[in-house]
Amino acid sequence: MNDLATNPLLDLSGLPRFSAIRAEHVEPAVDAALSANRAAIERLLAEVREPTWAGFVQPIEDMNERLARLWSPVSHLNAVMNNDVLRQAYNACLPKLSAYWTELKQDERLYRALKAVAARPDYAELTAAQKKIIDNALRDFRLSGAELQDAAKQRFKEIEQELSTLQSKFDDNLLDATNAWEYLTGDEGELAGLPDSARSAARAAAEHDGKPGWKFTLHMPSYLPVMMYADHRELRRKMYEAYVTRASEQGPNAGKWDNSANMRRIVQLRAEKARLLGFPHFAALSVQTKMAESTEEVFAFLRDLAARSRPAAHKELAELRAFAAERFGARELEAWDIPYYSEKLRLERYAFSEEDLRPYFPAPQVVGGMFDVVRRLYGLDIHEVKGVDLWHPDARFYEIRDGGGQVRGRFYMDLYARAHKRGGAWMDDCMSRKRDAGGVQVPVAYLTCNFTPPVDGKPALFTHDEVTTLFHEFGHGLHHMLTLVDYVSVAGINGVKWDAVELPSQFMENWCWERQALDVLARHHETGASLPDELFKKMIAARNFQSAMQMVRQLEFSLFDMRLHSDYDPNGPKTILQLLAEVREEVAVLSPPAFNRFANSFGHVFAGGYAAGYYSYKWAEVLSADAFSKFEENGVFDRRTGEEFLHNILEQGGAYEPMELFVRFRGRRPTIDALLRHSGLAA
Ligand SMILES: [Zn+2]
Repeated sequence: MNDLATNPLLDLSGLPRFSAIRAEHVEPAVDAALSANRAAIERLLAEVREPTWAGFVQPIEDMNERLARLWSPVSHLNAVMNNDVLRQAYNACLPKLSAYWTELKQDERLYRALKAVAARPDYAELTAAQKKIIDNALRDFRLSGAELQDAAKQRFKEIEQELSTLQSKFDDNLLDATNAWEYLTGDEGELAGLPDSARSAARAAAEHDGKPGWKFTLHMPSYLPVMMYADHRELRRKMYEAYVTRASEQGPNAGKWDNSANMRRIVQLRAEKARLLGFPHFAALSVQTKMAESTEEVFAFLRDLAARSRPAAHKELAELRAFAAERFGARELEAWDIPYYSEKLRLERYAFSEEDLRPYFPAPQVVGGMFDVVRRLYGLDIHEVKGVDLWHPDARFYEIRDGGGQVRGRFYMDLYARAHKRGGAWMDDCMSRKRDAGGVQVPVAYLTCNFTPPVDGKPALFTHDEVTTLFHEFGHGLHHMLTLVDYVSVAGINGVKWDAVELPSQFMENWCWERQALDVLARHHETGASLPDELFKKMIAARNFQSAMQMVRQLEFSLFDMRLHSDYDPNGPKTILQLLAEVREEVAVLSPPAFNRFANSFGHVFAGGYAAGYYSYKWAEVLSADAFSKFEENGVFDRRTGEEFLHNILEQGGAYEPMELFVRFRGRRPTIDALLRHSGLAA
């Protein structure tokens, strides 16, 4: 049945054949690829006496690239055309793949071989990209404990094991706590102020349970409209309390899924892991894979931003208080009143909604306009290619050519929400650029969004938020596709440091706020009129509503995360809650009620990924704002500046340090001025 010779997944000669992929092809193909790779690695280790780039590193690069290329369409289909059999096959492969990658990371023979390559006299003659790949790999081996002696290495593995269990337990607790709470009401009076969409969703949720009335939950689409619009203060308070006490010893489900002990243990284990590797604390370990050079640099960065935005945040809060008191007689604003009165103030001040903009953003105009922006910036031509194998009638395929007619990249675009498609928007890599004897492999990307689909044969109309999202993901896509690096592990977005990877994406968003670009992007779908000036002005004015309050909130999270993983002693008497209170004392303008247990649901930091790295959001914003400010100086469509960004940033992938690339483009190190100005916070 499983004839591997006809398995379309194993045919990597061109673009994936989506329509030929069957769930039953997946596991045999992955098994075959994994055992081929394992055998090839054993062969290399046994046969290669003197490992070199060409004889050792490149073959491993190649086999891992083949594996990634085989897996990419499966993982993509699982995300955009999900069904039970495919999901089963996908899930069956995940542990096999993760075991393989872990094996590679911990194979000391590979580590020794790589060190031997790096110690060769001809190492100096390798390209910057090749050296970077070796250096990154050596770094990752070290950070995975490869240099540790027996007992320490054993302890390191135990820590990793326990951490992975605890971090996933943190997420499970949070999920269970979020799902467990609901509020059913039969009193329509409690719904006053809620928009129709929120009412009917609440009604549908109750109906689904076979109950009369309206049901509210702690999931965002239910929670958020209540906090923003519900006139019924007690309803807001009740939901706020349930939300901010999830997975803690407080609130309606006190103690049931309490994360508190796990959190302390997680921080202890991370600290111990960092010390085993010779770092003073976990934050110092974290910055090893970041653009930031030290934890001091991160602290200084965050505190500088705080000092500059806090006065404005105080002012915004005072305005909100005055507004709520004057217009609504609300004397004391509690945490559950802030979003509610903020929304009222926003409406009064700017008197427009996202819906007013929608008619100006018909899909074909926006997509064509975005391609036009890229043509003007980088001299690239983008056109659709028909006849390519696709997974759904909504999907499209495009090709990017540069001024010389050279194909630089190709991408799939699948814009609309539908059943069995994972939510959100993302860019993913289908294949990466590389050069071998056969020539250059052109990079291919997937751009996936979940926008409101077209109805009745009319084009889809986007919100401005959706337009911005499209530009963001396209920015990631351009980074992936326009690279000229010939080695997969540092081509495009590969190997780019964590806190710099959002630079090209956030950078692209800027054009969505520029009059000149909007003239290309926005055309009324019926009249063809461009965006009225009055509407444009309102949109720009509303952009920075309460931006200082949002800024200090992000800084509070970032500082808390950094202190938790550096100067906080998880074995000492101070609790995590007390640490958070200290941070709030330093940067926040709002102090939440005593029962607030925000940290117990701070999954970014406690469940993994962003530990001692939450600051990356702001960090990348500084880079993208500062990069864009060069266009503000020279003209937002200045071709020369565009080419400088193309050559110095987009083409270089992860082959150089992001700071070096930034300085090459900007002529100096980044400053926070542009971000402050864009946020309306410049002095
Ligand atoms: Zn992004």
